[in-house]
Amino acid sequence: MDLISNAKTTRRKLLQAGAVASALGLSQSSSQAQSRQSPRLNTNSAPSALKITDIRGCTVASNFDYPLIRIDTNQGVYGLGEVRDGGVKGQALVLKPLIMGRNPLQIHTILDRLKPYAGHGRLGGGYSAIDMALHDIAGKVYGVPAYRLIGDKRRDRIRVYCDTIPSKDPKVYAQRMLDRKKRGFTFFKADIGVGLIRDRPGALRDRVPTEKGLAYMGEYLQAIRDAIGYEAPLGTDHYGPLGVQDAIRLGHAFERFELAWLEDPIPWTEWRGLKQIAAAVSTPVLTGEDIFGVDGFRDLIENEAIDLIQPDPETSGAIRETALLAGYADEHGIPTVFHFAGSPVGCMASVHCAATIRNFIVMENHAVDIPWWDDMVHGTPKPIVNQGYIQVPEAPGLGVTLNDDVVKEHLRYPGYFEPTPQFDFPVVSFGIWERGPYPHITEDGTLRNAPDH
Ligand SMILES: [Mg+2]
Repeated sequence: MDLISNAKTTRRKLLQAGAVASALGLSQSSSQAQSRQSPRLNTNSAPSALKITDIRGCTVASNFDYPLIRIDTNQGVYGLGEVRDGGVKGQALVLKPLIMGRNPLQIHTILDRLKPYAGHGRLGGGYSAIDMALHDIAGKVYGVPAYRLIGDKRRDRIRVYCDTIPSKDPKVYAQRMLDRKKRGFTFFKADIGVGLIRDRPGALRDRVPTEKGLAYMGEYLQAIRDAIGYEAPLGTDHYGPLGVQDAIRLGHAFERFELAWLEDPIPWTEWRGLKQIAAAVSTPVLTGEDIFGVDGFRDLIENEAIDLIQPDPETSGAIRETALLAGYADEHGIPTVFHFAGSPVGCMASVHCAATIRNFIVMENHAVDIPWWDDMVHGTPKPIVNQGYIQVPEAPGLGVTLNDDVVKEHLRYPGYFEPTPQFDFPVVSFGIWERGPYPHITEDGTLRNAPDH
């Protein structure tokens, strides 16, 4: 066995033994959650009579657009959800004809029906938003936090890493990272993009970092490591359009900074290339922010092509599907990290999911510098991200309600959960018999105009 394969094999064993998980800061919190049990909601009648009566939305203009949705029922109980950041609420609203009149407690039945219309990237957002809203409703009806609907609470709080605005001056960038540390963050990520070095002589060849360019990138990493130390996990992202060999070259150049991960060194669709990179470098390789569902991750997981998966619950299918795919990855010794860049609604849905995942490490937050981000919701302790962690809610459902005034203040477009009759007509799927008579040839060869025959 050569040294590289030996190193890789050793790393796999360490991962399975939990040593790398420990290096990444994966640990069970011993702190007790603040119990905040709201009174059970009066659902007015038996849950079996609960019906979905509407789905509406609005879009918050923040660092990314946050498309929020609300599913209403015939008993007053409602559920909140969020389409993937930067997406549009229509991704969820077009699914309206597929959910109207159904019992929202039939979570699996409804989601199975929607699954054929979910896709990767922002196309996973509609399904994901509805998953969140259904778990919000079911949790409220049964008087349990959403995590309880899918599993055990394995941790009381979720560790968080956040993005930081890069600076072309390594000292300034490092100072910003240090400021994060002073705010209590214990896990870090730095975008070491080619944009930082584009103007420097000899840095890029066809947009790919040269050896000189990698040295320039290293200046940023060195400054950041000098500022935050080597004890804290530090992930990196956004290296430009690399091929497999370029990514391996970059991975080797960065090894001395002992990074937590290399994020998306090449597109997630290229699992064979990712496997080559992961085999060649000692830094864990990670991908997944634009992948929907268990099937989307299947090749990466079954082929053990990467060291960590990084679903974004607003694309990957939210609470149910993300827990399933994380469990699937866990069977292959692959831990889970969350990508996340949305509002507190999607954040708390992700927190519920993360609370149940055995081999969970850390989730992202992209909005720690947005001053009104916390104020968008009621019901959770503030600040939501406190000393680098988020408390898992104990209130029924997702555990948050919207602060109407704050959300209304930051709308991208006019309209706050306005009626959505334009989405009553099926545009993604329908049974042709639902529209009325249709001419067809029957089994005995007769032309009929069903259903009027
Ligand atoms: Mg990324």
